[in-house]
Parts: sequence; C-alpha cells; structure tokens
Amino acid sequence: MSEPAGFTLVPLECPTCGAAVEAEEEDVVYYCVACRNGYSFDEETTSLRPIEVAFVSAPHVPAERHVPFWALEARVSILERQASGGRPAEWLSRFFGSSSSRGDGDGAGDGRGVFVVPAFSTSLDSTLELTRRYTAAFPGLGEKLGEKLTGGCFGVEDARKLTHFVVIASHVERRDVLQVLRFEIDFGSVRLLGVPLVKDGNQWKDGLFGIAV
Ligand SMILES: [Zn+2]
Repeated sequence: MSEPAGFTLVPLECPTCGAAVEAEEEDVVYYCVACRNGYSFDEETTSLRPIEVAFVSAPHVPAERHVPFWALEARVSILERQASGGRPAEWLSRFFGSSSSRGDGDGAGDGRGVFVVPAFSTSLDSTLELTRRYTAAFPGLGEKLGEKLTGGCFGVEDARKLTHFVVIASHVERRDVLQVLRFEIDFGSVRLLGVPLVKDGNQWKDGLFGIAV
C-alpha cells in the first residue's frame, strides 16, 4: 500500500524509552505506557514533543479505558461586554473574577483558571458539557497509570480554538440578549489529562459525571 501524497508516516516509537506507542489513526497526542511519558506531534518538525501528563484520580470508578483531555491554564480578559441583564455562565465565573464594579455583570474584567477540554472527538453537545463540568470542578489528579491513552486527535492549537468557542457558546446559550462580547485569552502551561471512561450498555460515559461521549 502506497502512502497518500503529502502525508508523512511517523514511526511511533517512544523517544524516551524506545517502546512501541499505541495510537489510533487520527491521533496527534501519545502516551507511552512503558515509561509513562506523553508527547504531541509537532507538525513543523514532524517529531514528537514531550508534554506533561496527569491522570484524574478516580479510584472508585471501574474504568474500562481512558481518554485524553487538555488542561489549559488561561487568563481571560473581557475587553467589552454588553448584555441586557444576566451574567456570564456560573461555571465561567472564575475567569471573570475581577469584573468591574458596575454591578450589572457587564463591562470589562479578567480572571484566571484552567480550562479542561476533550482532546478526542465526540458530539458538540458532549464536548460543551464535558468542558463545562470538568472546568467547573477541576478534578483531583493522581499517579500516572500504565493505561493506554488513545483517541487524542486534537492538538494544543485545536484545544485553544475550542476554548474560544466554548466561551462564546456559553454566553450565547443564555438568552439575555448578548449584544457585544470582545475578549482575549492568554494561555499558559498545558498538560494532558487521562480521564476514565465506563461502559453503560453500548454507551461510553465519562467516569466522573456520566456524560455520554
Ligand atoms: Zn516510553
């Protein structure tokens, strides 16, 4: 079988320990179960770049597999926000911590936090719900497990775009007539989180909140 033009096949060998790294076809993030190091594929250098990995601590969850999420430290600056009544969604409040004292929730402000977004592909509804729940209740982290972490088809840039989208979507879904929203997000450090999934009938669900993925 010949390679499609324009594609480069990268041998999936752990740069640290040399073990074979399991991955799905679309994956751009990898986790070596042998040495427990993580990597993301760097398109510019077509090489694997080390990334920090942590696993969500969920000792009581009967996990059947794990999937990767991105955890992105971020500072959100609201440059301008005009809405007739209403405030940003509650789960986003930490990112809007120092909003101005106009008292109506409008206006400029900024805040810091960690966005947690899926690195794997799922429905839009599930993506928004997972992001909302995992960001609101940043999960406790435990030791790195010797478990496969596959299905991560979104890289850091995708995760940043998704974060922008989620901030907008979380405002728009409120029907308080948002008229203007201008904001900037400054991203800090990133790491990959291993999140447990459980199987419920034919449906995979995340192990903490039971959201279908
Ligand atoms: Zn390794």
